[in-house]
Amino acid sequence: MDEAALRELARKYALQNAVFFGGKANPGAVIGKVMAEIKAESQMSGERLSKVVSMLEEMGLIKKVSLEETEKVNSIPPAVQKVSLSLIDPSLLEKKEKEQRKGLPELVSAVKGKVVTRFPPEPNGYPHLGHAKAAIIDEGYARMYDGKFILRFDDTNPAKERKEYYEAILDGLKWLGINPDKIKNTSDDMGKIYRYAEKLIEDGNAYVCFCKIEEMRKNRSEGVECGCRNAGAEETKENWRLMLTKLAQNEATLRLKTNMQNINTAVRDPTLFRILEGEHPMQGKKYRVWPTYDFSVAIEDHIDGVTHSMRTKEYELRDELYFLLVKLLGLNKPELIEFSRLEMENAPLSKRKINPLIEQKLVSGWDDPRLPTLAGLRRRGFLPEAIKEFVLSMGVAKSEAVAQWEALESANRKILDPAANRYYFVADPVRVEIKNAPDKIVTDSLLHPDKSEAKKYELDGKNLYVYIAGSDAKDLRKDDNVRLMHLFNIKITKIGEKYIEADYAGNDKDAKKLHWVPANSPRAILHVFGPVFQNDEFNRNSLMVKEGLVEPYASNIQEGERVQFERMGFAILEDKKSMKFNFIHK
Ligand code: ATP
Ligand code: MG
Repeated sequence: MDEAALRELARKYALQNAVFFGGKANPGAVIGKVMAEIKAESQMSGERLSKVVSMLEEMGLIKKVSLEETEKVNSIPPAVQKVSLSLIDPSLLEKKEKEQRKGLPELVSAVKGKVVTRFPPEPNGYPHLGHAKAAIIDEGYARMYDGKFILRFDDTNPAKERKEYYEAILDGLKWLGINPDKIKNTSDDMGKIYRYAEKLIEDGNAYVCFCKIEEMRKNRSEGVECGCRNAGAEETKENWRLMLTKLAQNEATLRLKTNMQNINTAVRDPTLFRILEGEHPMQGKKYRVWPTYDFSVAIEDHIDGVTHSMRTKEYELRDELYFLLVKLLGLNKPELIEFSRLEMENAPLSKRKINPLIEQKLVSGWDDPRLPTLAGLRRRGFLPEAIKEFVLSMGVAKSEAVAQWEALESANRKILDPAANRYYFVADPVRVEIKNAPDKIVTDSLLHPDKSEAKKYELDGKNLYVYIAGSDAKDLRKDDNVRLMHLFNIKITKIGEKYIEADYAGNDKDAKKLHWVPANSPRAILHVFGPVFQNDEFNRNSLMVKEGLVEPYASNIQEGERVQFERMGFAILEDKKSMKFNFIHK
């Protein structure tokens, strides 16, 4: 490739990048695109190696030329960029579908129309951002291949499942815009699951173990077989019957007979069933022997015809067990795909860590706006579209990286900024009395820079006072000349304990600007949140309550509406009666 061709390529991608991103192309992105195209070309023509070598030599040139072309493109007006790009190739003006679906690479052995995926949450708590990741990926793949997506409640522990949690999961998914093609419970299939257990017993592949938990653990780690293992099929059948009818919790388990010396300890005679007494929210007292995840997941995936079974990486060691069960029971063998567990900085992404916060009443409930639960994020003002974008931007990589809140916030901000109306909120208000103002003053400012609707106030100059924020008042000194935004300037004449006096001072737009609200402004409360965890412990300063005033026009804000408080950030109106807002983010 000669320099002229390279230049043409760089110009094309610089134009395209500029058109997609508000008129300014990112040089790094342009270099990436140019490199990718050169690479792709070299693969097609089969001259890979020599091309890669010469590409390295050209690297200096690629970078230089890309930077130069990016700079040129960025200096021309966006309208001209668009026209220039359409002259090269009008199809470049459209974002490719594949690019928009970033983060979901093609699946192995996926056939359009035949892919079946499932999301299997346990209804033992409210769904959180980690569940959103799994569900979005599971559903995303089903949609990508015109397949089927199943929501399967993995409800095999009567002591932990609750009706409330099934509903919370349904609510959370609905809010995310995830629509399962089928909803079912593992507990509906208990009869079938028992039959598979009986097959294992008949084939001599399972035994009832009476060892205590510690003993079992010790034997497993040392690779030692216990005596229970020697029971024949008939004896095991009888023991299994005792498990189903008489034996007490912790007295016996059903275990798979494998190899106690297997390098992978997860496959050393794993437990398949345990006795768990208790009232199940769906099945009542019908069953007292419940399968472990490892056993039920392989069977359920088979019953549901799952072709691509996805789970988080910590299950990787259990793939071997999954495939062993597939073999022993003659089940379908899906592709097992593992992705990394989502972790967020300073936030608990596990029901195990969230539960204690609720039990100890450190937060107000599962929907506390500080929590990374879907119900919490929703109250906090995050949009489901932002969550989807955030999750997909991380993709299905296995690599662990603690995600930053800033990434989710930035996805949310991108949606809110062009839509949220702007208002003034003044915290810890201080009254400012203004003398010598004109009799009648009319102010207006736009509700949003892209909208024509204005907020209009008529002030009576003869008896004029406004409120400014306590933090602004604190910095004022006598004789300061400051500008009240969209109004006029004032000169401070007196600073009292709880009020300020000032004189009207004409118009000087260069003076320091203060935001303010008029005399008849309603009270409002703003909840501002800090990280819920700090150094892995609950942050006792994670909720700050600010009281203040919002401008009168704010009475038009609807409950649930997201707005922008000027100079502060975005907030959502949670309760209209008390004008209580939750702060979303800057
Ligand atoms: P928890 O500790 O919150 O109970 P879990 O994995 O036991 O987590 P389940 O309800 O059993 O929760 O999980 C349902 C699905 O959601 C599983 O496939 C699990 O891998 C996935 N999942 C749970 N937490 C995360 C997370 N933080 N990131 C990605 N996926 C997750
Ligand atoms: Mg679980």
